[in-house]
Amino acid sequence: MTHQQVIDTYCEVYIGRDSRIPVVRLQPRGANKKCPLLSGDRCLIHAKNPYLKPTVCALFPIGRVMAAESAPEEMGLGFPFEIQYIMNGATCGSARRKQTVRKWLGDFNIPIDDPFFIKWNDTAFKLITAVQQYEGKSGVTDRAMDMMWSGIFQSLYTDYDTNQEFYPQFENNTAKILGIFSTLEKHEFNLSS
Ligand code: SF4
Repeated sequence: MTHQQVIDTYCEVYIGRDSRIPVVRLQPRGANKKCPLLSGDRCLIHAKNPYLKPTVCALFPIGRVMAAESAPEEMGLGFPFEIQYIMNGATCGSARRKQTVRKWLGDFNIPIDDPFFIKWNDTAFKLITAVQQYEGKSGVTDRAMDMMWSGIFQSLYTDYDTNQEFYPQFENNTAKILGIFSTLEKHEFNLSS
């Protein structure tokens, strides 16, 4: 399936209440609000290939956040942060087996300093900052906002060739959309028409 087909079939898209950029998530179904990829008590993706599960599912019961801390300057990111790992209260499984976080992530080929997670958050932070300076500003039309959201949505989620490597396309897409926002800012484009 293409990214667009996955989104159309299993997901919902909305503008984040706080972030104000497009968010895609698996759309809960039915009275019990179950994941659309759950069949009975089995994950359809896990049954095919556990390495293809959404990262948030693969990591469970571990969660991760970007915490604003003193990140090394040389990381060259828009803001100081570090990845922190947290335990969600897991009620399933055996409490007898012990694992390190590094090993748990390693089983899914996710490095502890996951460069994609860092890049994703850095990009999201820059896009959030860019969008929030326009939304609600006098003279910025609804059409202009729709165009911004549509450009971000395509860059982050749909403008991908599934026959090509994902990461270089992500880097290319995000460089393009951040470049557009940078040009807008530099030339103070009129967004009222
Ligand atoms: S592991 Fe994730 S993708 Fe699979 S059924 Fe559960 S929530 Fe859905």
